[in-house]
Amino acid sequence: MKRENAYLTDKQIDILKDKLLSEKERITNKQLEQERYMLDKNELSDPLDEASINVQTSHDIRFINRENFYLKKINKSLDTMNRGIYGLCEECDSEIGFERLSARPTAEMCIACKEEAEMAENNNIFDKRSKSLGKALHEVIR
Ligand SMILES: [Zn+2]
Repeated sequence: MKRENAYLTDKQIDILKDKLLSEKERITNKQLEQERYMLDKNELSDPLDEASINVQTSHDIRFINRENFYLKKINKSLDTMNRGIYGLCEECDSEIGFERLSARPTAEMCIACKEEAEMAENNNIFDKRSKSLGKALHEVIR
């Protein structure tokens, strides 16, 4: 019988859903904690300490942005689960696989596409940041 959510069994879906939900809870709790912490800090703030607080705050904001990004991915995964298209690669529609999904329940690409995307990304960085180094390396490799 061909079902939606294709190759994953109901039990596998349940396991992955649990993972996603507990990650979601973990992040939400952490965010609440972080908010409380930032409020406390503002109350205790000493003008002399302003500079270090600003540095700390920008750290906090980066941290929160990263967590928000992850939270969005979790919600997106839960959404695709509800729509019955969870676990399929965004690029090529092939099966991501239960093993990979249990290590990374928010994975959106199969390993092959992910590796290709990362390689393209690395090449871009390489191109942009170190043309001269790239050329030097090329000479060495040749
Ligand atoms: Zn793929």
